[in-house]
Amino acid sequence: MDDARPNDLDAFWMPFTANRQFKSAPRLLVAAEGVHYTSHDGRQILDGSSGLWCCNAGHGRQPIVEAIQRQAAELDFAPTFQMGHPKAFELASRVAALMPGDLDRVFFTNSGSEAADTALKIAIAYHRARGEASRTRLIGRERGYHGVGFGGISVGGISTNRKFFGSLLPGVDHLPHTHDMARAFTRGQPATGQELATELERIVALHDASTIAAIMVEPLAGSTGVLPPPVGYLQELRRICDKHGILLIFDEVITGFGRLGKGFAAERFGVVPDLVTLAKGLTNGTVPMGAVVARDGLYQTFMDSAAENAIELFHGYTYSGHPLACAAGLATLDLYRDEGLFERAAELEPHFEEAAHSLRGSPHVVDIRNLGLVAGIELAPIPGKPGARGFDAFVKCYEAGLLTRVTGDILAVSPPLIIETRQIDELFGIIGEVLNKLD
Ligand code: PLP
Repeated sequence: MDDARPNDLDAFWMPFTANRQFKSAPRLLVAAEGVHYTSHDGRQILDGSSGLWCCNAGHGRQPIVEAIQRQAAELDFAPTFQMGHPKAFELASRVAALMPGDLDRVFFTNSGSEAADTALKIAIAYHRARGEASRTRLIGRERGYHGVGFGGISVGGISTNRKFFGSLLPGVDHLPHTHDMARAFTRGQPATGQELATELERIVALHDASTIAAIMVEPLAGSTGVLPPPVGYLQELRRICDKHGILLIFDEVITGFGRLGKGFAAERFGVVPDLVTLAKGLTNGTVPMGAVVARDGLYQTFMDSAAENAIELFHGYTYSGHPLACAAGLATLDLYRDEGLFERAAELEPHFEEAAHSLRGSPHVVDIRNLGLVAGIELAPIPGKPGARGFDAFVKCYEAGLLTRVTGDILAVSPPLIIETRQIDELFGIIGEVLNKLD
């Protein structure tokens, strides 16, 4: 302990980071307020990525800060296994009230990854509870991201997140992804591509519906580089799932809480899935928390299939419904409501779209995609060095005072929903300047 050196970067094995590269030229954030971070060298950095797609109400929001402080002093921890505390029930009710349809039952986790694995487990256990234990297969989609648990990477479709980790879950198949460069520079949802959902029929024909538990997709694929769904695609998935008794799971870890100008993508697209995963914006990123929301009938199936005093679902986390996370979640939902932030995102969408597409014609830009307050700007890769140009752009944006997210050669932009139009212009202006100077 005494040997620990302050500011020694060695010990922290950083997630999803080129550790040696980072530690040779670190980028540290030391404070945040509103739509800005402060860097360790004292610069104001415009937050173009809501942290990591999570701080939808912006940073340093006093009501959330105070709620967490009060909660820590009043009740620091309480178990939720065979015990409870009031705020977990209150937050679950508030989340249920926000969700469309009969998505009314809320299971708390601590992250999006845990939410994804929880949803997959619930899907398989649900079919068993209703007497169809043969339904164990899970269907995901190429380029999908559902966190890093074994369930999430098995159903997910990002090769680098899968290939190092063995044989993953058995009995998983994948739909094709929905991206098509022939539709480059589409504004909003692509008008064509609905037929890609019909591929699910082929997968069902191959495996037989009696073996398939669920399909999980992000309504808008975020982490792979922002792929809005083709018009009618999600509706088609819903139709095929209904036809074959397959559960439809929407991973709304990014799309939830206003990112697409509605509370949830399920609302924006008018499709009610059977299970929804949430995280990130649930607490505005302040205290780790995720959730799975299930339709009422699904929950009732578990209740009806177990003896009166029996545990109905053998699953949970020590920190499921942690008091600090619940307090943060309640204060966050109040802010979203009181400031009308979901509606604000919808109002900003046309300006945001215009600003994003103003980069068309900038050097290296091969596609721009957008929906709600999220955009992806895809750059042509440097031959033989995939990802190098994207990373260079990301670093240069940071040096120029803008935080974005980079995945391969795609810059993803998803600012806090409190952003002003002039700041949206500033954001895309910085990217434009960086692109003009990029190799
Ligand atoms: N699902 C989606 C759609 C995500 O975008 C993410 C994270 O970006 C996750 C799941 C995983 O969430 P977490 O990093 O909190 O485990």
